[in-house]
Amino acid sequence: MSDPLLTAQDLFDLASQENDPACPNCAAHDFSCWETILSTFDRESLKCVGTLKDPDADDIWDEYHPNGTTMWSNNAPIAVKFHPYARSDVHQCQTCQKVYLRYTEYGGYYVDERIRVVKPELVELNSSLSKDTL
Ligand SMILES: [Zn+2]
Repeated sequence: MSDPLLTAQDLFDLASQENDPACPNCAAHDFSCWETILSTFDRESLKCVGTLKDPDADDIWDEYHPNGTTMWSNNAPIAVKFHPYARSDVHQCQTCQKVYLRYTEYGGYYVDERIRVVKPELVELNSSLSKDTL
């Protein structure tokens, strides 16, 4: 069975459950913006709980930055129908419930596994928002 497709609301609800303070593994790593997963980060504590990859959607490369952020900003909105969120899986720390997005960037000569923590206040909840409405 494939992972359930999550909506922006699902993601917001999940990320709102996280414990404070974070577990030592999560607390030791700041993934506020997209980062390459460091080898010091214990991935075994993460469990895949869903995906944002809609199998019926077209490939999306547009990004959503209404306030002048970039993909690398730590305050960039998390808009699930836009790149790179639309190709991310949703993972949750089994210790402190912190929620992360992960996707793999395939470059010409490299494969880069990236991760970003989900802050609920950054999740774009306007579910009708898609590249067709821009
Ligand atoms: Zn944790």
